[in-house]
Order: sequence, then structure tokens, then C-alpha cells
Amino acid sequence: MRAVVWRGVGDIAVEEVADPKIQDPTDAIVRLTASAICGTDLHFIRGTLPGMKKGTVLGHEGVGIIEELGPAVRNFHAGDRVVIATTIACGNCSYCRSGYYSQCDEANPNGPDTAFFGGPEPSGGFPGLQAERARVPYANIGLIKLPDEISDDQAILLSDIFPTGYMAAENAEIAQGNTVVVFGCGPVGQFAIASAHLLGAGRVFAVDQVPSRLEMARAQGAEVIDFSEEDPVETLKSLTGGIGPDRAIDAVGMDAERPHAGPAADKLAREGKDRELDEELARQAPEQNPQGDNWHPGDAPSMALQWAVESLAKAGTLSIIGVYGMANRTFPIGAAMNKNLTIKMGNCNHRRYIPKLIELVMARAIDPAQILTQKEPLTDAVSAYQAFDTRQASWIKVELQMPH
Ligand SMILES: [Zn+2]
Ligand SMILES: [Zn+2]
Repeated sequence: MRAVVWRGVGDIAVEEVADPKIQDPTDAIVRLTASAICGTDLHFIRGTLPGMKKGTVLGHEGVGIIEELGPAVRNFHAGDRVVIATTIACGNCSYCRSGYYSQCDEANPNGPDTAFFGGPEPSGGFPGLQAERARVPYANIGLIKLPDEISDDQAILLSDIFPTGYMAAENAEIAQGNTVVVFGCGPVGQFAIASAHLLGAGRVFAVDQVPSRLEMARAQGAEVIDFSEEDPVETLKSLTGGIGPDRAIDAVGMDAERPHAGPAADKLAREGKDRELDEELARQAPEQNPQGDNWHPGDAPSMALQWAVESLAKAGTLSIIGVYGMANRTFPIGAAMNKNLTIKMGNCNHRRYIPKLIELVMARAIDPAQILTQKEPLTDAVSAYQAFDTRQASWIKVELQMPH
């Protein structure tokens, strides 16, 4: 079968690989009908998240049809159409039983880290879902049956991105009428905006510098701020009567970019913060392999966190859903502590949210496909990755369709 394979930092290809086989009684083999490219995949190619093994099949978002079931999977039939949860969880340990699926004690054979498809060795080394077929471990937990009314274009966003944005909004403790700011208007940020509205936010601000991403946020009703034209902290204060937002969501993570123009860039230079950000980046991505415009790590790992803490109202809540690695150690703890902030964060417990989000889609409370901007065949995955990596206009979320 064909699959997208990680060959090294800055090097991916669509290659022929061996078909997956049932290995454990709780396994299923799923024939993918759709997969997707995620910002998380870019960290492995840019070199900002280490530990990938050469030859790993990429991808952790998938929709498909069950082809084969192990004898311990009792809640599905072969032929069922399913969405695959990104994180892998056993369903039996105390963490899974409390809904903390991303902290499962059993699923990862390589240690305590969150287990997921298509990631580095510390995440379990599971082959990914940008492939014609995949082995799904603990399929009785990680597969969720799809109603016929939900299309592949909608369902592929239920695999990772919508649950992740929803958990970010839930962790932000949004109550009726709250003012919320979302840093980052990529796919997770877009779903954080949508979820903030679903949870009753009164105002939602959205901060980015890519015009097409800000435009999508504005179309969702968010009040947009371009950080390459305005200082986001000062603008948030001035638009909220000097108070700042009650809730902030970091939907950026460690590949954050610094402003290279405008008053926010001037402020970084004036305060000598540029040099601090350079040092953070050198620690975070010691191995880089940029090819022309592609695979450059973000140049400001802690930028979103700093802006979030600075802009929040006193006693506000910071929710961190952007991905950070073990090399990220910079956080403005003093400013956060002295403002009595609450901080909640972590990898998404996908299995906890997907059934509920399926209900919201069925009730037409939201159409997740509105975030999907591109559909490309699996065979064109490399050029799709390149366009997504450089944040080309309107390349916000890319579905990969399977050749059948
Ligand atoms: Zn993803
Ligand atoms: Zn578990």
C-alpha cells in the first residue's frame, strides 16, 4: 500500500510500504477513505519535535471502513464506517476510566508519553494514518462509529482538530458572556473560536498574521488582530476597556513566529527579547534541514505564551493546547503568578469529546467542514505538505483522499 513516510528532518515521500496486520486481540484494520495533514506533523519535518524513526508512516487523523477485527473487539462489525481518535488509549486504566485518555498508562509500549499515530518513538512509534490502511490498537476504544449523515469532509475534522479546539475552550473555563482571545488561527484555533461561541463566550478575539486565517476567523464572528500590524497586547487592552480578556487560548505552540514588522516587532527589539527568542529556538530545534522556503521552525517558541499572560485580565484563565516539547522551558511565571492566573493545558483526550461532537454536528450546531480548505489525493501529499508548511493563502486545512 502507499503511505506518507518520514525519511528524515526536511525529507518526506509517498512510498510503497507493507500492509498492516492484526497483532493483538483488540486491534482492527481500517481501510482509510480520508486522512489529513496537521500542524503537529510539521514539527517532525521542521525538527522541532525530535525522536522520529526513519521510515515511520506519518499522520494521526483518519476516517475509514473497518476491514478486519481482532477477537476482543466486540462493539463493531467489519464494514462499519468509523472516525479514528488521534490518541491511543486502553480504556481500562484509571486514567482512561476518568476520561484522561491522553494520559493512558497502558497504550504506549515506550513509556509514559501520550500514545498517538504517526509520531516519534517516545509516543509509541505507531505507524500513522496517511496511508491506505492502518492498524488501530485498542480499536474498541479508539474507533467511533459514524452516522451516514456525516460526510468524510466533516468526519476527518472530528478525528483530532475539532476535539482539540473544543478541549482548549473547555480548559479555558469559558462562562456565559466571557471575553476570550485565541492566539493562532490555524485549524485548532478556528475550532477553539467555534467552541468558545458554543460555550457562550460574549466576545472572541483572534490573533494571527496570515490574512486568510484572520479572514476565516472574522467570518466566524471573531474580532481579529494582525500582530504584524498592531501590538496584540496593547490592542486587546484598548478594545476591552483596559481590562484584557478573561480567557486566553494558546493554539500556537512552540513553532510560534515573532512579528517582523509593526509596533510589536519594535518592542521586542527595544526590550532585547529578540536575543532571548533566538536562544530558545537554538535549544528547541538543534537539528534543522530547511529546503528553500520549506521546513523552517517558528522563530519565537514562547511568543504566544508571553502575549497571552501579558494580555489576560487579572484572575483570568490561560488554556494551552499548542504543542510544546521537552526542550521548551520558557514561561513568564512571575507575571502569571502575580496576576492570580489559572493555567490549564495538555494533550487532547480525543475519545472523551468525539461522541459529543458527533451529536453537535448531527444537530447542525456546527459544520466542521467549513474549516476544510483543500482536498488532495494521497499521491500529491508532498506538495500539499509544502503548501501547508508555508501557510500559503487559503491552505488552512488539507484533507488527503485515498485512491480506491
Ligand atoms: Zn492533528
Ligand atoms: Zn488507559
